[in-house]
Amino acid sequence: MEVSSLLSLPEGLHVKWIEPQGADLSIGVVSLLPSSCCPLCSQASSQVHSQYQRTLRDVPCGGRPVVLRLSVRKFFCRNPDCSRKIFTERLPPFVQPYAQVTTRLFEAVQAIGLATSGELGTRLAGRIGMHTSPTTILRRIMALAPCFASQVSCLGIDDWGRLGISPRAQVWNDSCGLNHPHHY
Ligand SMILES: [Zn+2]
Repeated sequence: MEVSSLLSLPEGLHVKWIEPQGADLSIGVVSLLPSSCCPLCSQASSQVHSQYQRTLRDVPCGGRPVVLRLSVRKFFCRNPDCSRKIFTERLPPFVQPYAQVTTRLFEAVQAIGLATSGELGTRLAGRIGMHTSPTTILRRIMALAPCFASQVSCLGIDDWGRLGISPRAQVWNDSCGLNHPHHY
């Protein structure tokens, strides 16, 4: 089995090297997809302009935090009607443009946040090899649609304070034993 399959990397991404770096596992990954589509005109291009490295946090491997060193290419857009002459290859849904973590790590931290809270979630995530913070967990939860965010089991007033949200905000949380909105 290829290492890229073992790490459940999407098709087209290949592992070039793996190197322990302190407590982390650093993994060099390259994209071997033959072409990429211009985000503006959607036309495919295989003409590489250059490449650069993105550093992304990924889900842990064997309990160790993982850092991906992902080589990303830039392509020429050859569509004469398109104003974008050079574009960076997109690798969704594995990673979103400009993201510093993979989508699967984003979602894992989000799930931990929904099941716990900022402080508890941070401690749990650390135990299983995910670097995060109470503020990050709250931001992941707030990125959800309101109907999903209502699944949060317990959210302390300190958690909201980290996000700069007024302590006078109304907090509904039946699962914490509150039957009506409370003002803090
Ligand atoms: Zn284009």
